[in-house]
Amino acid sequence: MVKLAKYTKPYLLMILLAIVLLFVQANLDLALPDYLSRIVNTGIQQGGVESAVPVAIRQSEMNRLVVFLSTADKESILADYTLVDKSSPDAAKLSAEYPALEKEALYVLNKIDQAEMDRINPIMGKAILTVSGIEQVLADPSKAAKMGGAFGGMDLSKLPAGTDLFAMLGKLPSEKLVQITDAINKKFEALGDKMIIQAAVSPVRAEYTALGMNTGQLQNNYVMNIGAWMLALTLLSVVCTIIVGYLSGKIAAGMARDIRREVFKKVESFSGSEFDKFSTASLITRSTNDVTQIQMVVFMMVRMVFYAPLLGIGGLIKVISKDSPLSWLIGVAVVVLIGLIMIVFSLSLPKFRITQKLVDRINLVARENLSGMMVVRAFNMQEFEESRFDKANLDLTEVSLFINRVMVVMMPMMMLIMNGLSVAIIWYGAHQVAEANMQVGDMMAFLQYAMQIVMSFLMLSMMFIILPRASVSGDRIAEVLETEPKIHDPEQPVKFPAAFNGTVEFRNVSFRYPGAEEDALHEISFTARPGQTTAFIGSTGSGKSTVVNLIPRFYDVTGGAILMDGVDIRAVTQHDLRDKIGYVPQKSALFSGSIESNLLYADENASPEMLRSAIEISQAAEFVASKPEGLAAEISQGGANVSGGQKQRLSIARALVKKPPVYILDDSFSALDFKTDAALRRAFKDKAANSTLMVVTQRVSTVKNAEQIIVLEDGRVVGKGTHHELMETCETYQEIALSQLSKEELS
Ligand code: ADP
Ligand code: MG
Repeated sequence: MVKLAKYTKPYLLMILLAIVLLFVQANLDLALPDYLSRIVNTGIQQGGVESAVPVAIRQSEMNRLVVFLSTADKESILADYTLVDKSSPDAAKLSAEYPALEKEALYVLNKIDQAEMDRINPIMGKAILTVSGIEQVLADPSKAAKMGGAFGGMDLSKLPAGTDLFAMLGKLPSEKLVQITDAINKKFEALGDKMIIQAAVSPVRAEYTALGMNTGQLQNNYVMNIGAWMLALTLLSVVCTIIVGYLSGKIAAGMARDIRREVFKKVESFSGSEFDKFSTASLITRSTNDVTQIQMVVFMMVRMVFYAPLLGIGGLIKVISKDSPLSWLIGVAVVVLIGLIMIVFSLSLPKFRITQKLVDRINLVARENLSGMMVVRAFNMQEFEESRFDKANLDLTEVSLFINRVMVVMMPMMMLIMNGLSVAIIWYGAHQVAEANMQVGDMMAFLQYAMQIVMSFLMLSMMFIILPRASVSGDRIAEVLETEPKIHDPEQPVKFPAAFNGTVEFRNVSFRYPGAEEDALHEISFTARPGQTTAFIGSTGSGKSTVVNLIPRFYDVTGGAILMDGVDIRAVTQHDLRDKIGYVPQKSALFSGSIESNLLYADENASPEMLRSAIEISQAAEFVASKPEGLAAEISQGGANVSGGQKQRLSIARALVKKPPVYILDDSFSALDFKTDAALRRAFKDKAANSTLMVVTQRVSTVKNAEQIIVLEDGRVVGKGTHHELMETCETYQEIALSQLSKEELS
C-alpha cells in the first residue's frame, strides 16, 4: 500500500482541497447540535428569551431590582440602560414596541457588547429571581416557606397586607441589607450561573408581558432565526459532501488508471523468466481486480480517513468542553467500540490475504478451461473440470462468507452499541434534567454528539475492513512494479555493423530455465550463415525451441554467448536485436482485427505489394483470395476463426513483411501439408535468398536440402552437417530419418 503512495502525487492538490472541505464539513456538522440545543433551550423552553438582561424594564421594577445589587453593580447596570418616558424624542417608536411606556417611564437597554452582557447577566439574573420570588410570596403568602429564611429569619408571610416590602428594604441600614443579599446569593451559588439565567428568563418574560410586548412574535423570530442558520449550515455541509465525493471519485479513478498503465508497461518489459514467475492469470488479476480494490479504498479513504477523526475528535472535544455529567457514557461506548473493532480486525485480516490468492486461482482455472474448451469436451472431462472449478469457487466462497459473517455480526453490534448509548443518555439525561443539572436541549445536543462520535468509529471500522484487502492488493501490484526484468538493455549499447549480413553464432551456450534443477541446453556451438538454411531437428523436448528462443533474448543464456555478426546480442538494445529477426513462434498468435492489420503488425508502412508478396511466399494467397473481403477479412481474438495451417501461414507472412536478415521459424510447417511445405520452402529460397534461415522441425523432408542440420538430443548437439553427412555419422539422425522416409526417398 505504502509503496503505491507515490501515485497520489498528481492528485495532492485535490486531496488537500478535499481535506479542507472535510474540515469545513466536520465543523459544520459539529455546530448543528449546538443550534439544536439553542432551539430547545432558548427557543422553546425560554420562549425565545436568551438572557436575564431584559431589553427594556419598567422603572418601578428596576427600582426593586437595584435594592439587591451592590453599589458598584447598581451604578454600572444603570449606566447600561437609558431611562425614557413619553416626552423622549423617539417615544412614538418606543411605545409601539413597549406599549407600557404610555403609563410609566422605562429603562431601555443600550447597545452593549457581549463581554458586558456576560458580566451583568448572572448579576441581573439573581436580582430578578429575588424580586420575582418576593413578589410571588407577597401575592400568595403560602409560598413563603419556599423562600425559607432567606430574609434573615424574617417570615414574609407574617407581613401585614399591603406592606411595600421593597420600600421597606430600601430603607434598611446598608449592613442589614448586605446581610440579606448575601444570604440570598448563598442560596443561588448551588445553582450555577447557567441555571440562574435560565430560571430568570421566566420573570423576564413576565416583565415583557407587563410591557405589552408581543412575546409570541419574539419566540417565533428566535426559532426561525436559529432554524434558518441550521438550514444554511446543513446546505453548506451538503455542498461540501458533494464536492468531496466528486474529488474522491476523480482521485481514485485517476490513480487506478495510472497504476494500471504502469503495471501494463511493466509487464510489457517482462522476459520469459518473469512470466514464468507470475503466471498470466495472476498478472491479469493484478492489473484488474487488485487495481479496483485500490481504487475503492482510495475513494473511501479520501472521504472518510480525514473526516472520521475530525468528527470523532471534534465531537469528543465538544462533549468534554460542555462538562456534561454524561461524558462517562461516551467513554464506555468508545472503549467497547475499540474492543469490537480490534476483534473483528484480528479475525478478518488473515482471511483477506487468502482472498486475492483464491481470485487468482479462479482466474487460472477459468482461463485454462476456456482456452482448452475443445480438449475438455473431446475427453469428456467437463465433470472433472467442473469439480475443479467448483473447488476453487467454493474455497473463495467459504472465505468470503467467513469475512461477510464477521462483518454482518459487526454491524448489528455497532448498532446495538449506538442505540444502547442513546437509551443510556436519555435515561441518565432525563434524571439530570429532573434534578435541574442539565437542560433538555443540552441533553439532545449531547445525544447528537454521541451519535457523531459513534459514527466516526463506524467509518473508521469500515476503513479497517477494506484496508487490509486493499493493502494485500497494493502489495501484489507493488510486487509486479518492483520486479526488475532480468533482461534489460545495456547501459552503453553498441550498434550492429552498418553492413549487417546476419550471421548467428552460438558459442558454448548453456541454458537453464529459472528455477529448474538442470540445464536445458549444454555447450551448444554452431554458426548459421546468411543465404543458408540451418535446421534443428530432434525429438520433442530436446531443446529446439529453447535454442531459437535465446536468439531474440526471450531468455538470456546462462553460459557462453550468442553473437550476431560478431556482436554479443546482450551488448545491443533489445529493439535493435529484434529489429533484425523475423520470428514465427511455435504457437502462432494472431491478434483480433483483419488479416491486413495482422500483417502490418510487422511493419505499419509496408506497401500493398509487399503484403501481397508475403502472402504469396507463405502460400496463403489462395486462402486470402477465397475470402470475399480479401485482406480485410476479420480475424477474431487469438485467430480462432482460421485453421491451424492458415494461422501458421499468416504468421509466416507477418514475419516476411518485416524483411529481416534473420528468420526463425519454430516448427512453423508442422500444420502444413507436404506439398505446401515444399512450395513454401522453395518460395522462401527464391525471395529471401540472402537471409539467414533457421528452421525448427520434426520432419526430415523439410530439412533434407538444408545447408546445415543440427541434431539435438536432451539439450546437446549430437550431430551437425548436411543430410548426407548425417546419414553416415549420426545415429540419432538415422533413426529419425528412417522412421519417416523410405530407403529410396532418403538417398
Ligand atoms: P522442443 O525441442 O520440443 O522445442 P523445448 O525447447 O520446448 O523442446 O523444451 C526443452 C526442455 O526445456 C523440455 O524438457 C522442457 O520441459 C523444458 N522447458 C521448456 N520450457 C520451459 C520453461 N518455460 N520453464 C522450464 N522448463 C522448460
Ligand atoms: Mg518446440
